[in-house]
Amino acid sequence: MLTKNDIVETEISDLSHDGAGIAKVNGFVFFVENALPTEKIHMRVLKVKKRIGFGKVEAFIKMSDQRQKKLNLTYLRTGIADLGHLKYPAQLAFKRQQVQNSLSKIAGITDVDVPLTLGMEVPFAYRNKAQVPVRRIKGQLETGFFRKNSHDLVPIEDFWIQDKEIDRLILYVRDLFRRFDLKPYDEKEQTGLIRHILVRRGHYTGQLMLVLVTSRPKIFRIEQMIEKIVEAFPAVKSIIQNINDQNTNTILGEEFRTLYGNDRIEDIMLGNRYAISAQSFYQVNTAMAEKLYEKAIEFADVSEDAVVIDAYSGIGTIGLSFAKQVKAVYGVEIVKEAVQDARENAVLNGISNAVYTANSAEKAMAQWSNENIQPDLVVVDPPRKGLTESFIKASADMQPQKIVYISCNPATMARDIKLYQELGYKLKKVQPVDLFPQTHHIECVSLLVKE
Ligand code: SAH
Repeated sequence: MLTKNDIVETEISDLSHDGAGIAKVNGFVFFVENALPTEKIHMRVLKVKKRIGFGKVEAFIKMSDQRQKKLNLTYLRTGIADLGHLKYPAQLAFKRQQVQNSLSKIAGITDVDVPLTLGMEVPFAYRNKAQVPVRRIKGQLETGFFRKNSHDLVPIEDFWIQDKEIDRLILYVRDLFRRFDLKPYDEKEQTGLIRHILVRRGHYTGQLMLVLVTSRPKIFRIEQMIEKIVEAFPAVKSIIQNINDQNTNTILGEEFRTLYGNDRIEDIMLGNRYAISAQSFYQVNTAMAEKLYEKAIEFADVSEDAVVIDAYSGIGTIGLSFAKQVKAVYGVEIVKEAVQDARENAVLNGISNAVYTANSAEKAMAQWSNENIQPDLVVVDPPRKGLTESFIKASADMQPQKIVYISCNPATMARDIKLYQELGYKLKKVQPVDLFPQTHHIECVSLLVKE
């Protein structure tokens, strides 16, 4: 029986879905950070549960030839890049394998080819959004990232997978806060003002949005700081304060105040312009999201008279990419600011055949069904937890010829596809697209066709 701090020699047999090495020791499955398949290690036991355990690499006996040796381990330990220690081509193969495994194990599908993950040529500095905690370390205000499963801040200046201009703005704001002697938030004491800095940058427009998350409304000498920020970064088009006075893990509070400029910034995707609010979801990897949408459009292959439902529509990026090629688009999204963005984005791009509803996707389906709207295509793009049974049933009841499922979690996608198959839809195509290089996160698009 292994106990904490035992050291055993073992070989890593696999990678878990979240990028941990898997070692099987005495009938236990151990998860080991920074360990890759085929590697032989001395493993230190950190924790043992009923059937599983956690370990760490005490020493490498043999390393994998797929190991990216140059990785700064801070990125691994903070989870910024929990797959960064694997060479990029192997990351792409891992993601394809994960999709294949989910489809076969969860949905029992083995007859659909999963092509290699579409990857980036330069798989770094791609994120258009950053949210970094602000804390005090050794008496000094710092920005960085929390160590995995903790709230211990690790100071970081180069975030590696983030747009470099975003890094530069974060550091500038950090230095300004130091100079103006602002107090970072302290979770334990529940004191201090500045909790988080969020930055979003339009990939094509370069426009910057800065969100300061504070524990209280009053920011001392904010006008002077804003003046300096805008002078140093003319691309800053929006500075927003978010007030979060709750002692929880949620980053954003309810209240947003625009301190400078607009309450939105703009970006471009597939030739359309998009206004984006702080509250709205926007894919963090613009160039690869365009590839993803292109695949979705190719899979859908709809005619000019098609009626399309865009469920989980965010600011409308998918539906509006379709709109000019089809008869009508009906979008639904639960965040009302995002719905307002979507409506404005339709206007911004001269699109008059797309309507957006602020509602839950389930309720909107019921409503459209009552109004006798008959979609030819339903596009879904749900969060990680996937679709609900009631949504799947409601959408199948409307009998669209095709369903295009965009997913950021192959396990829930496979579960949902299983139900769609029972309701008369068949999986025809699937394509993983790498929106999140150096991390374990997997995005993919699937085509289901009515039998
Ligand atoms: N299609 C968009 C957004 C995808 S992210 C894009 O590509 O950018 C998923 C979206 O689903 C988020 O905007 C989230 O706010 C929304 N959402 C979450 N639960 C929902 C629900 N039950 N009904 C409708 N929308 C929901």
